Amino acid sequence: MKFVGAHVSASGGVENAPLNAKNIGATAFALFTKNQRQWFSTPISQKSAELFRERCKEYNYSPFQILPHDSYLINLGHPQKEALEKSRSAFLDEMQRCEQLGLDRLNFHPGSHLNQISVDQCLKLIAESINITLNKTKGVTAVIENTAGQGTNLGFEFEQIAQIIDMVEDKGRVGVCVDTCHSFAAGYDLSSAEGFRKSFDHFENVVGFRYLRGMHLNDAKKGLNSRVDRHDSIGAGLLGEETFRILMKDTRFDGMPLILETPDEQLWSEEISKLKAWQT
Ligand SMILES: [Zn+2]
Ligand SMILES: [Zn+2]
Repeated sequence: MKFVGAHVSASGGVENAPLNAKNIGATAFALFTKNQRQWFSTPISQKSAELFRERCKEYNYSPFQILPHDSYLINLGHPQKEALEKSRSAFLDEMQRCEQLGLDRLNFHPGSHLNQISVDQCLKLIAESINITLNKTKGVTAVIENTAGQGTNLGFEFEQIAQIIDMVEDKGRVGVCVDTCHSFAAGYDLSSAEGFRKSFDHFENVVGFRYLRGMHLNDAKKGLNSRVDRHDSIGAGLLGEETFRILMKDTRFDGMPLILETPDEQLWSEEISKLKAWQT
């Protein structure tokens, strides 16, 4: 069984996210539990959290169908101590928001070395950040997203993600989200059946599907190995429809949120119904 949805708006309160998801025919959804471009947000009110849980129940969204995303400001591998501390406390707040909402996973971008420390040092800081946060929380898995490798962002090679996981103490609460656009931009050619097979065989060998907790389904505007992160609507970019047809028939992607982060919201309900239809 596949669960397909989009990263929907939670403006006006987190309780609006399940409603917005239902309105586009989604069986999964992603959301920000706070403003993703601000460091500080007021806590989620008890009323808001209760309404969120009620609506999720009413519209049949279980935690394994929901993939919250953290703020873009957080850098868990920040080379400077003070900035790293700021990121770590913001990340803890994000994890606690998930706990409050009864969610079981939080999707985040690993971090950036900013040309101030080595790749290995940065990956070590990221793992340390995860360990610190997991020690202070319960029941929420830290889900590392692979990146396009833009700028000094790490996590664009599956090996880097494996290196982080290797240093995480509680392997039961660390996971991975693979973004199809990021993979392509990072040099994994998902645009052909052969490339798709090879890329995910490689993923299985290096990381392992047992860690996969969600997918971001995005077509790509920029070329293979361009290291530029520009999402396109399904079928409109360089990956093309075939990539998503293959993915939707592959049972290794069952039972987890498959999330659109495609640029045209007006197309989401159409994209979701197409993807659902490609399962068979
Ligand atoms: Zn993504
Ligand atoms: Zn992206």
